[in-house]
Amino acid sequence: MRLVQPKSVITPGQVWFVGAGPGDPDLITIKGRKLIETAGAVLYAGSLVDRAATLFAPTGCVIRDSADMTLEEMTTWLIDATHHHQTVVRLQTGDPSLYGALIELTRPLTSAGVPWAVVPGVSSAFASAAAAGETLTLPEVTQTVILTRITGRTPMPPGEELAALAVHKTTLCIFLSITYLHKVVEDLLMAGWDKNAPILVVQKASWPDEEKIVRGTLADIKQKCQTEKIASQAMIIASPALGAAHWTDIPHSKLYDPKFNHRYR
Ligand code: SAH
Repeated sequence: MRLVQPKSVITPGQVWFVGAGPGDPDLITIKGRKLIETAGAVLYAGSLVDRAATLFAPTGCVIRDSADMTLEEMTTWLIDATHHHQTVVRLQTGDPSLYGALIELTRPLTSAGVPWAVVPGVSSAFASAAAAGETLTLPEVTQTVILTRITGRTPMPPGEELAALAVHKTTLCIFLSITYLHKVVEDLLMAGWDKNAPILVVQKASWPDEEKIVRGTLADIKQKCQTEKIASQAMIIASPALGAAHWTDIPHSKLYDPKFNHRYR
């Protein structure tokens, strides 16, 4: 007797929150790509990740841009998709744990009894450093990276204002803030950074023909970004380690010191 395959899945499928990386489809993880290749439905987050979705999704896969959807519509869509498909992918830019509304999206799934899991991705902070050939940490210069944003429509929790964080003079990767660049500059100056401190802005890091790298100082970065017409999809990096590739001398990492115990390499 031939077994008749049910049209819809009886047990709900699983939703995978996949980090699509910063834009270049080659920067998605192998695990993430494999999931898209077997997905019955993909809900992707706007123009930054559409290439990965359309490149890797199988024929017949339901692909939907979430740009015009509310969070509630998105969760309804995802839950509904799990009633028809085993593998449902929610594609997010960079890494899903950063500014990705992950918890708002997963809580309704849990309430509805839909299993979910996260596949990490390459954050735009790292893609921006890579594009510019910069290191975010340098021995004896800075050993800490702060991933943050400036107050916009989302207020910063008390104590996390940029001017307060910047006092540490460590590396700052500032997301979602390019339209407030004047405020970023103001806050760093207020925190005691020199007006000649180097600043890096990378727009569309990893996008083959669209990536833009702008280097400047606190004094001129705003003007330079205006000239380059950079007003969206950009990472601002302020760091005492910027430009280290061109310094005459740098402190060397103890990790590769021949006299150092290799246990921690
Ligand atoms: N989860 C993402 C961040 C989403 S918030 C990540 O891990 O990268 C969106 C912000 O990320 C943008 O405002 C911008 O600051 C930054 N961003 C995303 N993609 C970028 C890219 N390709 N180049 C530069 N910045 C990017």
